[in-house]
Amino acid sequence: MSLAAFRFDNSYVRALPGTFLPVRPAVAPAPRLVVLNEGLAAELGLGLGDAAAVAEVLSGRAVPDGAEPVAQAYAGHQFGGFSAQLGDGRAVLLGEVVDRAGQRRDIALKGSGRTPFSRGGDGKAALGPMLREYLLGEAMHALGIPTTRALAVVATGEDVLREVALPGAVLTRVAASHIRVGTFQFFAARGDLAQVKALADYTIARHYPDCAGAANPYLALFDAVVAAQARLIAQWMGVGFIHGVMNTDNMALSGETIDYGPCAFMEGYAEGTVFSSIDHTGRYAYGNQPLILGWNLARLAEALLSLFDADGDRAVDLANGRLEGIAGRYRAEWLAVMRAKLALEGTGEDHADLVEGLLAAMAGQEADWTLTFRRLADAVAGDGSEGGAAGGSADGSADGAILPLFADPAAMRAWLPRWRGRLGAWAAARLRAANPAVIPRNHRVEAALDAATAGDMGPFHALLAAVTRPFDEDEAFMLPAPSGFGRYVTYCGT
Ligand code: AMP
Ligand code: MG
Ligand code: MG
Repeated sequence: MSLAAFRFDNSYVRALPGTFLPVRPAVAPAPRLVVLNEGLAAELGLGLGDAAAVAEVLSGRAVPDGAEPVAQAYAGHQFGGFSAQLGDGRAVLLGEVVDRAGQRRDIALKGSGRTPFSRGGDGKAALGPMLREYLLGEAMHALGIPTTRALAVVATGEDVLREVALPGAVLTRVAASHIRVGTFQFFAARGDLAQVKALADYTIARHYPDCAGAANPYLALFDAVVAAQARLIAQWMGVGFIHGVMNTDNMALSGETIDYGPCAFMEGYAEGTVFSSIDHTGRYAYGNQPLILGWNLARLAEALLSLFDADGDRAVDLANGRLEGIAGRYRAEWLAVMRAKLALEGTGEDHADLVEGLLAAMAGQEADWTLTFRRLADAVAGDGSEGGAAGGSADGSADGAILPLFADPAAMRAWLPRWRGRLGAWAAARLRAANPAVIPRNHRVEAALDAATAGDMGPFHALLAAVTRPFDEDEAFMLPAPSGFGRYVTYCGT
């Protein structure tokens, strides 16, 4: 890849002076390309070539022509508490490129050393967590869920000190932008309303150009972000994705999933599922994500308040009206996602009831989220012997694929015929297109990262291939963690 092929056009730096600080990425002692996303490179119009040259650039050691490396300022509510200054402590925005489809995309390095926002941190990242972001982000993309992408992971050739010494690495992240709820909060908290306005105008121009023509462009911007984020969280819920750290600095105005830290996919369905080691209260548990959506958007509304009404007297009423609509908006998006997952056509009155009936049948039964939905396709025809003995488990009937996923399948056995009565033609095909077979299973992810850290990339590539074709059945990658794997715990920013 001749990275001279990056044709930078850095609109953020041009339009928004005062929202970032210039930085030089750290000089990695011995950069080595570990994984390169050739499909994404092609989307970006980058030619492929010498791996050593790629590693020079994507470690941050060689700054390509046209790049203007900066650390972006942002604030954020972390677990509900406000930090007026966070910012890119270990990330550098190299610049923006316009891809082959005409979309403007940020090119950023993560783990490329200290910045003015690093506080006590080293600005670095370990190989395992950067490969984890690569793997989970590419899985989300393949699932059709908006997300930042990973262009490459480059090992730096130096260790980073965590609890133990670990190989260091830099991830190249490609994003629609890195504008966060927390970016607005940074300037609103300082009373810099001119900068809030400049940022809002920039966000409208870059992400929601139709809002510019609205009677109130800033209310229109807020509505557009609500729509994008409600859809996003509904999609997360549909695949059992738990972000793990839905702080306001990790919510992007573009509507992309951003910042893969302690995230993981739920296996057995339980609303309270939490993986992150630091989420002691379950603030960011699976079932709480829709509430946090509303909470975070309320923080965005606060930051935009001065723009909602120039005189100020109607701004709070306008904002409150908007906030009251979020739960309904989310509910509609979620129902659309769940209808597709159950192959329910149209908008039948009883659809919500059917969906909730399934969740009730799954709850407390350790029913695997992904496999339960996937195996609905096998249960479309029914076994003609509902209520039959043995729950169909070993009898080769249609329900025999799905009922064994339940500790006690009684409620599921009762639910299935209700659901079948609502199905139209081609239901099995539509179910298989809506419900993935392969997600990044926690035990597989850990095994792949452990092997990679020890120098063997084989398991990583095998897993990456499986999770980027999530609707193809690949038995080896479909099974939940064996019971010996134990409770899964994930960690932030290592
Ligand atoms: P995160 O938990 O990844 O969303 O990060 C929260 C904040 O901590 C952001 O401002 C990061 O830039 C910063 N941060 C995380 N890890 C490091 C590190 N190793 N060095 C410096 N800053 C960091
Ligand atoms: Mg973050
Ligand atoms: Mg992070």
